[in-house]
Amino acid sequence: MPLRLLIVEDLPHDAELMALRLQEDGLELYWQRVQTEAQYLAALNPAPDLILCDWHLPRFSGQQALELLHERNLDIPFVIVSGGIGEEAAVAALRLGASDYVLKDRPARLGEAVRRALEEKRLRVAHEQDQEQLRLAERVFQNTAEGIKVTDATGRIVSVNAAFETITGYCAADVVGQNPKMLKSGRHDPLFYQNLWASLLNTGLWRGEIWNRRKNGEIYPEWLAISAVPDAQGRVAHYVGIFSDISQIKEAQKQIDFLAYHDALTHLPNRILFRDRLAHALTHAHRKAKTLAVMFIDLDRFKTVNDTLGHPVGDELLRQVSQRMTQTVRADDTLARLGGDEFVLLLEDGESAQRAASVARKLLGCLTRPMHISGHELVVSASVGISLYPTDGEDADTLIRHADRAMYEAKQRGRNNFQFFTQSLNEGALERLMMENILRGAVSRNELVLHYQPQIDLASGQLVGVEALVRWQHPKLGVVSPDRFIPLAEEIGIIGDIGAWVLRTACQQLADWDRQGLQVPRMGVNLSVKQIDSEGLVDLVANVLRETALGKHRLELEVTESMLMRAPKSSHAVLDAIKSMGVELAVDDFGTGYSNLAYLKHLPLNRLKIDQSFVRDIGRDGNDESIVRAIIALAHSLGLETIAEGVEEVQQAEFLRREGCNLVQGYLYSRPLPAAQLILHPAFQPCP
Ligand code: C2E
Ligand code: MG
Ligand code: MG
Repeated sequence: MPLRLLIVEDLPHDAELMALRLQEDGLELYWQRVQTEAQYLAALNPAPDLILCDWHLPRFSGQQALELLHERNLDIPFVIVSGGIGEEAAVAALRLGASDYVLKDRPARLGEAVRRALEEKRLRVAHEQDQEQLRLAERVFQNTAEGIKVTDATGRIVSVNAAFETITGYCAADVVGQNPKMLKSGRHDPLFYQNLWASLLNTGLWRGEIWNRRKNGEIYPEWLAISAVPDAQGRVAHYVGIFSDISQIKEAQKQIDFLAYHDALTHLPNRILFRDRLAHALTHAHRKAKTLAVMFIDLDRFKTVNDTLGHPVGDELLRQVSQRMTQTVRADDTLARLGGDEFVLLLEDGESAQRAASVARKLLGCLTRPMHISGHELVVSASVGISLYPTDGEDADTLIRHADRAMYEAKQRGRNNFQFFTQSLNEGALERLMMENILRGAVSRNELVLHYQPQIDLASGQLVGVEALVRWQHPKLGVVSPDRFIPLAEEIGIIGDIGAWVLRTACQQLADWDRQGLQVPRMGVNLSVKQIDSEGLVDLVANVLRETALGKHRLELEVTESMLMRAPKSSHAVLDAIKSMGVELAVDDFGTGYSNLAYLKHLPLNRLKIDQSFVRDIGRDGNDESIVRAIIALAHSLGLETIAEGVEEVQQAEFLRREGCNLVQGYLYSRPLPAAQLILHPAFQPCP
């Protein structure tokens, strides 16, 4: 680019000579001559690269030209070329910013003066730019939101910015001269810092997250970039660490992560987290061959609450429900909300059907207390479905689907209950399963006991015998009545053992009383139809009687009427055999089994026991009274004795006496009692 030169000169020839001189000196030029102020000012726009100016001009002057530049803040190299300039003028000119002056009669200096003026200007501009750069850097350093610390090569802090002070709480005076180690949080192991330094030394850079400690002791995470700054020789002179406090970002991140896996309303795990935990638990259960349970819980009629009381109430209800359920389950069970009023629960680690049932019961129970929500008292219930791994499914989808299906079944059954996907595990069945297991060992664990209830002769008021009634005393279940466990024992095929134990124990008791001199004429023992069916009953009875050396007629076996009706023909032979031994037989619960009279006539019986349901209504229900009357008449016509059971009131006893009933048994005389208590009863008398 040619030099754009402005020559302020009244003599055209002089101007030409100057230009020529410079061109001869090797400068490429584009030049223009002016001689008035107006021309001069016009030529300043755009600004020339250099001005050569005569000091004395007819209508203008070098001094004016300089002053005009000054006024306009124009920094243009200005060389005075003059025939002569006094020393005073020269000083004034330099003061006004002239770069140099050359005498017209010594033009050889012109080229050098121009070059120097141009070089000075270049340096001035460069310096200005450097200064500007520095000012800018300083402004950035101080105003940036990032904290900055600069250390020397040995790691001592030489400066920090304002953000450093805000973030760390330390002011410059606290830290200058210190090592940044003073900010260490103690959260990182030595290896972390070793890696940091290795990266800094090898690449001159380290970037990452680091935990530091503020002046107030608080530990916070920062995003830090450290770079090594080399000097002119390429040796590290400084390290600059730029960091931002990311505790808020981290907090937000945590919040986002939480919401990704939790339900915003209840803060319970959501579907994603639940499936994740379930998948995890399944892998574990599979490896360890353990079981687990998935429970699907759906509130009953939640939609009604939402529709009638509004969504805010519905939301609050869901929150309270989830709180209650959370308190009910164990900390390591996963309770999640799938959405709406649907919850799922995962029970891990070898959960049995029993525990699942007990948790379900507790969950239903925890909802029964009313909830108070914005002035409303609400009671909710839920329907619960349970599926078990591996029985009801091997993968998450199947287990959840089956638990859902079981929940639907619970809804069908009138809500507020739980159902297993495997039907055989449902309520009654489950209880049975549990009972069955413990009932099997009841005899061997000596958990059975006999109570005895006296039977009285109405005419004489004398004790004619007792009936043995079995009870099961279980350490956890308490006293279980025979109605609850005898049918089960029959079903699972252990009635034989129980029956044998009852028969033997009752007879031994009777023999004991004999030895004690207590007069108990007869022992009644209840038989199950299953016992009659079995081969060994006749032998058993014979053996027990031999062992106890009791007279045969002192044993009476009771068989219920309904059982007799259902018993196969073959059982007649058994009863006949027993009867022919001399053992007595009674039909229990008579009147309830629609007996066929002709049939009864052929059975080897001694007594009919009138069922307590008829006795209970004596004096209240004329119909029942006539049934009782008919039974007594029937029995007598067949040559059988009658005994009324369940006699609780004197009027009942009076009625029975009037109608000719022979014997009575009931709370009016005595409840069934353990042997030890029974002997205190007034009906018991020592043998004369
Ligand atoms: P069951 O043979 O008809 O026995 C009479 C039941 O009525 C007994 O109930 C007795 O406690 C009850 N009872 C007696 N007096 C009164 C009264 O005045 N009022 C009322 N409300 N109840 C009275 P428990 O002991 O619960 O026995 C129930 C049934 O279990 C028996 O009815 C019998 O069928 C069966 N059972 C009892 N022990 C045995 C046993 O050792 N073997 C077999 N196979 N069955 C038994
Ligand atoms: Mg009985
Ligand atoms: Mg009975």
